[in-house]
Amino acid sequence: MTATTDPGEADAGCNTTLPPLAAVIARHGLQPKRALGQHFLLDPGLCGRIARAARPDNPAVILEVGPGPGGLTRALLAAGAARVVAVEKDRRCVAALGELAVRYPDRLEIVEGDALSFDIATLGPARIGIVANLPYNVGTRLLLRWLERVERIESMTLMFQKEVATRITATGGRDYGGLSVRAQWLCTCERLFDVSPRAFVPPPGVVSTVVRLVPRATPLAPADPDALDAVTRAAFGQRRKMLRRALRGLAPDPHALLERAGIPPEARAETLSVADFCALARAWAVLRGP
Ligand code: SAM
Repeated sequence: MTATTDPGEADAGCNTTLPPLAAVIARHGLQPKRALGQHFLLDPGLCGRIARAARPDNPAVILEVGPGPGGLTRALLAAGAARVVAVEKDRRCVAALGELAVRYPDRLEIVEGDALSFDIATLGPARIGIVANLPYNVGTRLLLRWLERVERIESMTLMFQKEVATRITATGGRDYGGLSVRAQWLCTCERLFDVSPRAFVPPPGVVSTVVRLVPRATPLAPADPDALDAVTRAAFGQRRKMLRRALRGLAPDPHALLERAGIPPEARAETLSVADFCALARAWAVLRGP
């Protein structure tokens, strides 16, 4: 897959043609800034594929983080999103996106700001969809933040660097860790497809992967979130050790803790299921006391 400069797209809803993204980038001087993780997608075919995977006609509101020059934003609108709220930190991009917002006054709102401090509760009571080609430097932090507000979210269709996508969806082995447990406890997590570095301008040094997370109606098993964090941190902190040793810093008697959770003391973190971690978190909460 290579980055293609589009010849201009039909403007969904208006019988006009949008200017090519390359022209938008040139006109607004959007030289990519590394500090903002700027790797732009100019291929309308690829943007359309991501947008369709997000099923944007379903949620009442789509939050797009980091729209950049607007390739994915255009695709979301073309795919039927009723309302897109796009949060962008780079003022230059906000100016460029203003032209698109003028064409979709009722469907597109551009917010200049940092997505890390954007409160999704401000988007109203209905559950939202989140779609983003995420800036790599804040992608994991944003996901963890959204997982804290998962009851407000209908789905998340997100592009991460492949290594992070692998950690989110791993169910065992060396990529399995606290992020996998937290995400899969709250959501079904599916890897959709990889995107070659050549699809971006400029190309990043890594392959990217689109992941879809759909919040579960209730978490996979009962557990207190802080207790779950504590046990996963302790267990994966010494992931090569048997749990009877790895959990020493967490509990004075790891054997009793593991027995209560129904987990063999010789097990290692990488072999526990998410449900096992929840059992461990419940046992730890009981043994620790109020
Ligand atoms: N969505 C565009 C695309 O696919 O071409 C751009 C994606 S680029 C990987 C990431 C975008 O996120 C950039 O436009 C960057 O300015 C923006 N960004 C970086 N950090 C941000 C933050 N903390 N909050 C909001 N936007 C941010």
